[in-house]
Amino acid sequence: MRIAVFPGSFDPITIGHESIIKRAVPMFDKIIVAIGKNADKKNFYPIEKRIEWIRLVFSHYPTVEIAEYSGLTIDFCKKVNARFLLRGLRTSADFEFERKVGQINKQLYPEIETIFLLSLPEHTSLSSSIIREIEGLGGDASQFVPLGVVLK
Ligand code: ADP
Repeated sequence: MRIAVFPGSFDPITIGHESIIKRAVPMFDKIIVAIGKNADKKNFYPIEKRIEWIRLVFSHYPTVEIAEYSGLTIDFCKKVNARFLLRGLRTSADFEFERKVGQINKQLYPEIETIFLLSLPEHTSLSSSIIREIEGLGGDASQFVPLGVVLK
């Protein structure tokens, strides 16, 4: 079984995340969208909401699952038998960050392969943090989140 973990905060899920996951569906038998619970990272939307939104977006995708985890991403990968870590790449800044993490993860867990999908050009400027900023200041970011996700 080709199992991939797509880790992130998904605070909230964006059309950028949605696109990466949907494009990866034909590549893997199972994709686990894994929400990392990082103790020192302040979240904007409650974890229940973030899970609910992802579940809604992928309700017709039987190979996409949702999970929460704490601790190291590679330890979660080991636990669920995933040999692939899926990440999206937007910019060279993403690349430089991902390169470090990916190379260290490979050293800690040699069986893991990090797979990168380039974001679509129209998603390059999009991030969860920009959505939080818009919504936090009273704006409407609905065009940046998947259909059906209501950011309230
Ligand atoms: P993190 O907390 O690790 O930054 P995110 O929830 O922001 O997690 O992102 C999870 C994954 O989705 C990362 O691989 C990130 O590069 C990718 N990603 C985020 N935004 C986009 C986007 N607009 N287009 C494509 N991939 C994206």
